[in-house]
Amino acid sequence: MSAKKLQSIRGIHDGLPVEVARWQRVEQAARKVFGGYAFAEVRMPILEPTELFVRSVGEDTDIVSKEMYAFTDQGGDNICLRPEGTAGAVRAWLQGGLTRAGAQRWYYIGPMFRRERPQKGRLRQFQQIGVEMFSAPGPVEDAEVLAMAHAFLCELGIPDLTMEINSLGCDACRPAYRERLVTYLQARAACLCETCVERIARNPMRVLDCKVASCQQELADAPEMVCHLCDECDTHFTTVQKGLDALQIPYRVNPRIVRGLDYYNRTAFEIVTDKLGAQGTVLAGGRYDGLVQELGGPATPAIGFAAGIERLAMLLEDTDAAVPDVAVVALGEAVHGYALAQADLLRKAGLSVVHCGGGSAKRQFKMADRECVRFVAVIGEDEMQAATVMLKNMASGEQQSVATAAVAALIAA
Ligand code: ATP
Ligand code: MG
Repeated sequence: MSAKKLQSIRGIHDGLPVEVARWQRVEQAARKVFGGYAFAEVRMPILEPTELFVRSVGEDTDIVSKEMYAFTDQGGDNICLRPEGTAGAVRAWLQGGLTRAGAQRWYYIGPMFRRERPQKGRLRQFQQIGVEMFSAPGPVEDAEVLAMAHAFLCELGIPDLTMEINSLGCDACRPAYRERLVTYLQARAACLCETCVERIARNPMRVLDCKVASCQQELADAPEMVCHLCDECDTHFTTVQKGLDALQIPYRVNPRIVRGLDYYNRTAFEIVTDKLGAQGTVLAGGRYDGLVQELGGPATPAIGFAAGIERLAMLLEDTDAAVPDVAVVALGEAVHGYALAQADLLRKAGLSVVHCGGGSAKRQFKMADRECVRFVAVIGEDEMQAATVMLKNMASGEQQSVATAAVAALIAA
């Protein structure tokens, strides 16, 4: 191997134990809350046909046009590392023959890949917790899914989050709105950034969430979709809000939420924080009634959201690192088997145990110290003869000889 230091790819990093402990807290909160809404976990592949995302997310989106890790494999198939979970979930649902299985409530946890510019809160491999609800026609489902997102973040105890909601209309009302918007944007094209100008023709609604301050100034009086909804979309949006009111979930209507992906309609929402700078969106989603059909299935209303695990983990308060309950110090060759068996017994009683490996007493005590354990179980030949261990409480320094059968209960107390 060359002397050059090996490094991971930029924007892709390791989860070392301290960080993974935070990720697990996020995952546990999700499992607990989603379980209460009767959502079941699914596990989908990381590799998908590139075509799936071109057809669903849309060729004009950043994700598909610039950010996909796509390649041709040895057999000539066009494959990519999934950039998001919704399209794969729809594929799995169709392929699994579940279209007649009634409402399906799914969640998944796993890595996504986007070749974006790496920065704080923006990685090239990141993890999402995603939720999809198929055959979910109405505003009640929307309110419940939004409530579930809210409950999940409350469970994590993250303060100062804001839920922002919008309606993106539908095929009946969006085209006319789009035209109004294009007219408005064309009149101001000279003052908009290059990306916005490009988007006027291709994806004008994306202009609304441009982060450039001068663009935002130009957009101050831009027409808003919420003011041009058809009657059905308007009723749907009002009913979602009534649901949130009934549940006392705070929210704000933000007409600038458009979502970066093509497949959304009606309810779109984000939960944002001001603690992560420009990368403040921790959870985002919406309704996607047309996507299943787009991918070859029967017309099926659906709604979902995804949250970035790393972004959420950055907002968590530190908790004490988990430390083992007890370290086993084995003194002398003769107790080799007895000490292993004691460690085994303690683990079976539900404790976390490190075996210090035998050998010199000094080295073993040093190791026990470094592990910050609460107790050390010292085992020498006398202990073995008497079927006991010498249990030392590291906080008080107290030690006592304890019968093996009583050790676990004493430590757990
Ligand atoms: P952003 O506006 O930050 O680019 P997005 O609209 O591209 O987000 P979605 O595709 O909706 O994000 O993904 C949902 C969530 O996944 C985001 O709210 C964020 O928490 C997380 N996420 C998205 N892209 C990244 C990334 N590159 N690195 C880390 N987390 C990400
Ligand atoms: Mg993005």
